[in-house]
Amino acid sequence: MTVLIMLDLSLSRFAGINDTEARQLKKLNLTTIADLLHYYPRKHIFFKRTRIKDIRIGDNVTLVGKIVSHDLMDSRKGGLTLQIWRIRDKTGRVTCTRFHNHPRYKSKQWREQQHQAYPPDAIVIITGQVKSDRYNSRGIGIHNPQIEVTDLATAKTVRSILTPIYPLTKGITNETIQRCTRAALSCIDYLEDPLPSPLRARFGLANLQEAIANIHFPKNQERLKHARDRLAFDEFFYLALGMLQRRRAFQQQPGIPLAKTGTLLDRFAGGLPFSLTSAQQRVIREILNDMSQPQPMNRLVQGDVGSGKTCVACFAALAAIQAGYQVALMAPTEILARQHYRKIAKWFAPLGVSTSLLTGSTATQPRQTIYRKIASGQLSLLVGTHALIQKRVNFKQLGLVICDESHRFGVVARHQLQQKGHFPHVLTMTATPIPRTLALTAYGDLAISRIDELPLGRKPILTQLLSNSPKCDRHIAYQRIREEVQQGRQAYIILPLVEASDKLDLKAAIAERDRLSVQIFPEFSVGLLHGRMKADEKQQAIAHFQAGKTPILVSTTVVEVGVDNPLATVILIEHAERFGLAQLHQLRGRVGRSQWQSYCYLASDSLSDSSRARLEMMERCQDGFELAEFDLQLRGPGKVLGTQQSGIPKFALADLSEDEALLDAAYRAARRVLKKDQTLERFPALAEELKRRRQLDDLCDRAVLN
Ligand code: ADP
Ligand code: MG
Repeated sequence: MTVLIMLDLSLSRFAGINDTEARQLKKLNLTTIADLLHYYPRKHIFFKRTRIKDIRIGDNVTLVGKIVSHDLMDSRKGGLTLQIWRIRDKTGRVTCTRFHNHPRYKSKQWREQQHQAYPPDAIVIITGQVKSDRYNSRGIGIHNPQIEVTDLATAKTVRSILTPIYPLTKGITNETIQRCTRAALSCIDYLEDPLPSPLRARFGLANLQEAIANIHFPKNQERLKHARDRLAFDEFFYLALGMLQRRRAFQQQPGIPLAKTGTLLDRFAGGLPFSLTSAQQRVIREILNDMSQPQPMNRLVQGDVGSGKTCVACFAALAAIQAGYQVALMAPTEILARQHYRKIAKWFAPLGVSTSLLTGSTATQPRQTIYRKIASGQLSLLVGTHALIQKRVNFKQLGLVICDESHRFGVVARHQLQQKGHFPHVLTMTATPIPRTLALTAYGDLAISRIDELPLGRKPILTQLLSNSPKCDRHIAYQRIREEVQQGRQAYIILPLVEASDKLDLKAAIAERDRLSVQIFPEFSVGLLHGRMKADEKQQAIAHFQAGKTPILVSTTVVEVGVDNPLATVILIEHAERFGLAQLHQLRGRVGRSQWQSYCYLASDSLSDSSRARLEMMERCQDGFELAEFDLQLRGPGKVLGTQQSGIPKFALADLSEDEALLDAAYRAARRVLKKDQTLERFPALAEELKRRRQLDDLCDRAVLN
């Protein structure tokens, strides 16, 4: 009991920390001693133990010396208070200066206090950076150092130190956090390690007390690394524990075992205008097999753009529908939802399967009808956007949830949709290949299928970088567009939108459409699509394009995900250097969806060496998985998958591109624990810690939703 009480003690009631400090810490959401101990530095600065004669400008140093003099004076203009120490050691002298900028430093009381604190001949430890200093004869001094008065015995033990640098917010300084953390560390003996010690030993982990002490004030780099690894392990471990536990619980739920064959499936397969690739067939088998089990399916399908995921999803849907269940298909954008709906409704109508579309812009009347038909079970398949998770949507018997381009919405949305049924099967689909570490953290150990083959007859998209300096020659692309359109095919011209200057870019998009339609392609009509258009305007722009009324579509990146027009054979991407590889690949995937040769032009007027390397990679490579790995190396995981949306927790220490081994260890450790006791009843400390961290997770989840 004392343990909890001590560490959960409110900082405002802890003797080592005063009220002002407690109030400041609260700004960082640090309210208990445990909070403070778990508030890790973002880095450490190495201050090298140095003799005064050896210091050089720019060095971070720790000095030990005696105070020669200590003065307080007002700056010439009077605003600042200068606090100046002259310090000596056996090798020389140096001046240390602090600059105070507040009236309280002018008070007599404060000044007296300071003089008492720094008497002549006191031994001090000085930590700071050496700067040039024109007031000093040597031309160098130490500005705003940390100064600690000490005794001879301690002074003898001073070595180079690693000083923690904390993430800050307004109104609180690094020194305050350091000081308070030091105070809080006096309670470290109360900290119990929830990890059983055999487990720690097995994975070579530091114990928690040692790790916490050394993550703040490490004795040396090695200890710091050992501490970091332990605490980063914890971040992964509790996540893995939570995920695996939830997943096992999920698997124990009675699922909805569905037949792998049936009339609807047969009729659908027989009616398809193409034959399935063997990769599609394999993935369909994997899915139908999962769905025939007594536990709910939870499977992720990864397939490059154009690999035919929609059609695979249809097989899953029909397996549920032929058994009398309903299916929900959620897409991240209205455009995509609409397109899925159009295509699937056309495929399903001859089979007598009723399908509807529900999005944010569905009018009240049809919306009511949908609610009713969903509740009564008359409707078998509901396609839509986030609108599907609204309260009013109540399924009679939801058997399967399909999430397309799932990385675009959080785990929370997926989960909420799932909750609308009684342990429905879940199928998620994505064209963004997810590196292993990301998949493990975002989805736990869910089953993954890959459609690693494109439909027969697809030709590689000829990709060309247009950046002939001094001027990028777009006429190559315009000529190609003209030729293709004359043969009845179509083209996209993509303009990037930079969010910060939304309006400007929008203007640019409109101007560019006008320019293209008047000056370059007067003989064709040119459509326009951008994110600021109303839903029905967008829909119309796309419909006109799909129907060939506007054979050329000038568009911002709203077409990126999934828009499918097989007649489109040319895409020109402007300012290609602004896009990441994965996004370029997605954009390029808008063409090459038919037996015709397709073309992609990447235009750029200003190319750095690194963007040139990236764009040349596009010329050489057609494989989304290869490009994604390359992208991950270039840009890091946060950018590759928008961390916020994807449901990947923010880690304080762990790093997904560096810590794969730790992540694996964490999963292995979590499996060991759960094998011994899935309920965690035998590991109350672990259960407690998991709960503590889950609360944080929930907080994050909610932040994403709002
Ligand atoms: P994505 O995986 O990018 O979502 P889609 O499911 O939109 O791809 O499929 C791309 C296009 O290829 C669609 O027009 C679809 O009808 C078509 N398609 C799917 N599978 C095949 C196949 N096996 N053979 C030929 N065309 C196919
Ligand atoms: Mg798709």
